Amino acid sequence: MGILEKMRLDGKKAFVTGGARGIGKSVATALAEAGADVAIVDMDLETAQKTAAEIAELGVKTLAIKADVTSPDDVNNMIDVIVENFGELNIAFCNAGIGNNIPAEEMTLNDWQKVIDVNLTGVFLTAQAAGKQMLKQGKGGSIINTASMSGHIVNVPQPQCSYNASKAGVIQLTKSLAIEWATRGIRVNSISPGYIGTDLTASSPNIGEWNRLSPVHRLGTPEELQAIVVYLAGDCSSFTTGADILVDGAFTCF
Ligand code: NAD
Repeated sequence: MGILEKMRLDGKKAFVTGGARGIGKSVATALAEAGADVAIVDMDLETAQKTAAEIAELGVKTLAIKADVTSPDDVNNMIDVIVENFGELNIAFCNAGIGNNIPAEEMTLNDWQKVIDVNLTGVFLTAQAAGKQMLKQGKGGSIINTASMSGHIVNVPQPQCSYNASKAGVIQLTKSLAIEWATRGIRVNSISPGYIGTDLTASSPNIGEWNRLSPVHRLGTPEELQAIVVYLAGDCSSFTTGADILVDGAFTCF
């Protein structure tokens, strides 16, 4: 079988959190193009439904599921709905995330917790629920978490200590889960994007400065993250687990 055939995900069942828009939508589209059925999981059900309908036109099954990744009940319900509709779960892209820019000395506990709850605890809850389901099925699976280059470097000029800490946490959580599940066929990896042009970054006054600092002098696009997640999702990456893959246009090289 040729390499492109090996990359295909026909018959696999996936979910993408934060799948309604941005990086999640782009990756969900790529998983579907590779042949996987995909559940679009998001707090924003209306946009998730539109995205799921668009992706269904590719000829795969899709679902739109409303879930807040910080709620264990929502996350458990998400797994139930996926198993009821798709029969099983093979691929999890734990991607929902938020940011806030607040100087550390002004950050309230609530500001701090909001970001940690979604970006770190949310990834733990969704990856844990996916792992439990995959363990029950007994035939492995692939979990991919969205970290960030902010888990490696401190972004400037914006103050975002909770975001940076949450993403460093995602990288270490990913490695921990990879070790715990290594002998049971469940691979766990993360991607660490640099600045990507999405709604999350669109309103920032700092885009000019980020472009100046970037070796490639531009933001990345969500499409530039598609192939790496398809690779990590499928059997081509069977020896890749516990990895964090930077996709940042060399931003973190200096
Ligand atoms: P985005 O804001 O465009 O999309 C995020 C999606 O997540 C939205 O649809 C939102 O409704 C959903 N969401 C937010 N909180 C949620 C929750 N509690 N439960 C369920 N869904 C929730 O953001 P994006 O740029 O596509 O970012 C996606 C991921 O990539 C995030 O984890 C982000 O931190 C990470 N990331 C983004 C960039 C970037 O520059 N855009 C860079 C590195 C990492």
